[in-house]
Amino acid sequence: MKPSLILINPWIYDFAAYDLWSKPLGLLMLATDLRRRGLDVHLLDCMDVDHPAMVERSSLKPPKRRQYGTGKFWREIVPKPISLKGLDRPYSRYGILPEVFEDDLRKVKSPSAILVTSLMTYWYPGVFEVIRRARKIHPGVPIILGGVYARLCRDHAVQFSGADRVESNQGIPAIYETLEGCGISIPNEAPDTTVPDYPAFDLLNKIRYICLMTSTGCPYRCHYCASHFLFPEFIQKDPHETLAEILFWHGKWGIRDFAFYDDALLVSSKSHTEVLLERIASLDLHLRFHTPNAIHVKEITKPLARLFYQTGFQTIRLGLEDADGSNRWDLDKKISKGDFAHAMDHLRSAGFDPRQTGAYIMMGLPGQPPDAVAETIHHVDRCGSIPYLAEYSPIPHTRLWEKAVACSTHDLSLEPLFHNNSLLPCWDNQKKSQIPRLKRLASHVREKYRNN
Ligand code: SF4
Repeated sequence: MKPSLILINPWIYDFAAYDLWSKPLGLLMLATDLRRRGLDVHLLDCMDVDHPAMVERSSLKPPKRRQYGTGKFWREIVPKPISLKGLDRPYSRYGILPEVFEDDLRKVKSPSAILVTSLMTYWYPGVFEVIRRARKIHPGVPIILGGVYARLCRDHAVQFSGADRVESNQGIPAIYETLEGCGISIPNEAPDTTVPDYPAFDLLNKIRYICLMTSTGCPYRCHYCASHFLFPEFIQKDPHETLAEILFWHGKWGIRDFAFYDDALLVSSKSHTEVLLERIASLDLHLRFHTPNAIHVKEITKPLARLFYQTGFQTIRLGLEDADGSNRWDLDKKISKGDFAHAMDHLRSAGFDPRQTGAYIMMGLPGQPPDAVAETIHHVDRCGSIPYLAEYSPIPHTRLWEKAVACSTHDLSLEPLFHNNSLLPCWDNQKKSQIPRLKRLASHVREKYRNN
């Protein structure tokens, strides 16, 4: 009998969560590779907003969905972990009900192994909870934990997760090696070409949008970002492969919304993204593109902005982080003075409405004064875009990590829950007292554009 595997995307436990084109892309890629090798794959997505049992059985308020496939998740308020008691906000489990998850687990008879992914380090309570419940329903079945948390906080995951193995190496071959170590052999023969070689979105209950990754890694080395640790090499896919992927989902499934997950979508864009977009423009497909991961401001040229407009980009998020030059040079080299204003000029002349654009502004960096955030909000407004505050979350294995640990009053090394961006763990109380003012300022600018 061929091995049968359960792949799990765990719940999120947090103060806030929103489906901004969020899907477990790595897990869906793994599902495809396993299916092409002839294994049985069962995907259990705890974050599924379209789970039929939730609609039938849940007493929870159905999550509101917004445009382009985004929206809220199912949500239930749960007790806060003791270490987060200091923050006076409700803490929730986002996703399907635990009993619905357990029913799904029971439906898979005699799985060979259970593979669990993970994302943000401070979301580990959801990871632990799915492992605990999977162990209860399928005792004796090996559970392997991978993903971002497993890689960034390996020791913590090994010690506390309850998984049999923690996979902290990058890529699918590493997972296969671990499966082999658990006695599960992965067939090596030629892949089943009847299974398309794209992330297995068809295993979801409903496909509202497709997430694309045209490259992995990033050539920049911003001090607050773990991209280089998670993907040490910057590798771009052939743009024609991405085009084929888009045409597949659009042609066969009627999908119109595509979100780019790249860390560096616009690097070497002349031979990469521009080639892709030129082909899409010539096909007149009426698609909608979104860049929830910020794109590089300095790479936006006039022709590229025009291509964005022609091909139907609807949501453009730019990585500005901090307009204060003195702070910026310590942390990254991805943007120079004047770049943001130029990028916005190009986007505006191409035809974009300010409401389609937005700049992420990092708030809560070690040593960052609140006034620098306020100045950046004003700068975004002056340049005709919408500010989005992105609260800084300290990430292990980044260059800023040691500084973050040193300046935080929380024990970041010991407890990943303290990495939660809602805590702003690297700002003292005096700086934190400025947060309402900064949030009001950003929201005032957003309202101004919305009412225009
Ligand atoms: S440019 Fe973006 S993805 Fe690249 S290192 Fe900086 S923050 Fe990370």
